Amino acid sequence: MTLSPEQQAEIDDLRANPQPTLRTVSEGMEKHLYSAIPVLDHGFVRVVDYMGDDAAICQAARVSYGKGTKSVQNDEGLIRYLMRHWHSTPFEMCEIKLHVKLPVFVARQWIRHRTANVNEYSARYSILDREFYIPAPEALAAQSVVNNQGRGEALEGEEADRVLRYLRDDAMRAYDHYEEMISQEGQKGLARELARMNLPANVYTQWYWKVDLHNLLHFLRLRADAHAQYEIRVYADAICDVVADWVPFAYKAFEDYRMGGATLSATALDCVRRMLKGEAVTQENSGMSKGEWREFMGVLA
Ligand SMILES: Cc1cc2nc3c(=O)[nH]c(=O)nc-3n(C[C@H](O)[C@H](O)[C@H](O)COP(=O)(O)OP(=O)(O)OC[C@H]3O[C@@H](n4cnc5c(N)ncnc54)[C@H](O)[C@@H]3O)c2cc1C
Repeated sequence: MTLSPEQQAEIDDLRANPQPTLRTVSEGMEKHLYSAIPVLDHGFVRVVDYMGDDAAICQAARVSYGKGTKSVQNDEGLIRYLMRHWHSTPFEMCEIKLHVKLPVFVARQWIRHRTANVNEYSARYSILDREFYIPAPEALAAQSVVNNQGRGEALEGEEADRVLRYLRDDAMRAYDHYEEMISQEGQKGLARELARMNLPANVYTQWYWKVDLHNLLHFLRLRADAHAQYEIRVYADAICDVVADWVPFAYKAFEDYRMGGATLSATALDCVRRMLKGEAVTQENSGMSKGEWREFMGVLA
């Protein structure tokens, strides 16, 4: 179960009592408010609150008052211009607050994004749930032989069964000991802040994460990318869907210029110009290292 019955009841209550508002409303985002998007086996992402929409980006860029919308076409063109020219501050006028439930090893990668406000569930104060991330069989992959920071093909057969058994058994045993250590039945009971150190990194934690759209897009550029670890990428993918509904013009420009675009060095650009003139450019005469050339070919392919 991703949401506890108490959390679900709270969400149902909030959804049942909509408030009229004079604030900007993004129709696409309203459907996400108070709905948890399941991620991994026990995790979720849910939008708690947001501020602004595509028009708010344009409003700030024009430093205008009122809705800031000249025409829909104007707004989209302006947003594309801002994205293309790295004029980033208007995107900071939109904010999003998420409630995320995620394994601790994913949280360690996520927290490296410093330009957000975070408040995490306290395992000093509260007791952690018996919930651990156990990969689905297709995500249970071998170490990549070409990339030290990646994974290769999925494990199979007896090896996959054994690994899954270790992951489950170790997590359950650690949790049994955690519970036993904090128990105050017939003993003092170890402090929660100490007992938690016994738990593995696949235990779930939760936090509220608030970030502006500019920094969120930076996070998504890095974490929805194929180079990011699968377990954080699935959270980033879920957030991408939310952002696409929230600020459709900004998200389209982001997909075009950031996710789908590429940056070329002066040397690479020179190679492209030489190729366009019909010159046979190879790694040897490109001025690039083998690795750089391989990446350049990847971009062109
Ligand atoms: C595929 C991948 C592999 C990675 N591997 C490793 C690894 O092996 N080891 C490791 O330690 N990390 C690793 N990281 C984490 C990475 O180095 C960054 O810490 C992380 O992606 C956050 O990026 P950021 O600093 O740009 O983001 P944010 O912290 O959100 O910052 C956004 C931007 O704000 C500016 N900024 C924020 N704080 C400061 C500051 N204090 N000083 C100056 N400028 C600031 C910078 O311009 C920064 O780009 C990896 C990340 C990815 C995506």
